[in-house]
Amino acid sequence: MPKKLEHIGIAVNDLEQAEALFSKLLQTKSYKREEVKSEGVITSFFQIGDIKIELLAATNTESPIAKFIEKRGEGIHHLAFESDDINNELAERKSQNIQLIHETPKDGADNKKIAFLHPKSTGGVLWELCQEKAED
Ligand code: ZN
Repeated sequence: MPKKLEHIGIAVNDLEQAEALFSKLLQTKSYKREEVKSEGVITSFFQIGDIKIELLAATNTESPIAKFIEKRGEGIHHLAFESDDINNELAERKSQNIQLIHETPKDGADNKKIAFLHPKSTGGVLWELCQEKAED
């Protein structure tokens, strides 16, 4: 089940510039940067109240973020909902005929397992499920 809106992902061209802009807008500094090599992105996180803003910049031209910006320009890329059990929720979504981008969760930024639902099935919103990785 989704528990809460965990973060909002925003696609940006230039991470330095976007960090400066969002620091000004949110009146707080980015608290961490993290690269996700498998996705060809570098992320930067802001905390605002209970929610995070995740800036995403491409690190290569094959990155999904590079492709997104090419098509749609900079802006909101995805909404991420924290799941209490991501594997269960993916199975449930599938049974609801929601199109999955990832059948099984993969490693994302911020110590999370993540999986995406296809915007065709979710009202045009790229929908991320995320769950904190269990410590092992
Ligand atoms: Zn995200």
